Amino acid sequence: MSAPSGPGGYRRDREDRDDRRESTVKSRLRSRARKKARKQNKKSGFLRRKVCRFCADSSLQIDYKDAKALRLFTSEIGKMIPRRISGNCAKHQRQLAVAIKRARHIAIMPFAGHGI
Ligand SMILES: [Zn+2]
Repeated sequence: MSAPSGPGGYRRDREDRDDRRESTVKSRLRSRARKKARKQNKKSGFLRRKVCRFCADSSLQIDYKDAKALRLFTSEIGKMIPRRISGNCAKHQRQLAVAIKRARHIAIMPFAGHGI
């Protein structure tokens, strides 16, 4: 209370002993810091929204015979790349998974990479 603590500098050991007024000041500081962080996040644009490329371009088609196109959605080992990384929507990721499985079955795509 007597010593002003800098912004963002919280002392852990005194937290339990101090009265309620201190906690309100702290919560105010905390909320301000959170607001600041949110603003910075927005400005920098760190979180970029991924767009499903099949939705964005309707001319793109998922074809199980087109191994070259399907290879873009598999890792070098041959595993399918998850939706959260590739940015595909659920509908197209499902179609893609079926296509890759079909391509594997007709042996134009690997089940496992050539390293194994
Ligand atoms: Zn899509």
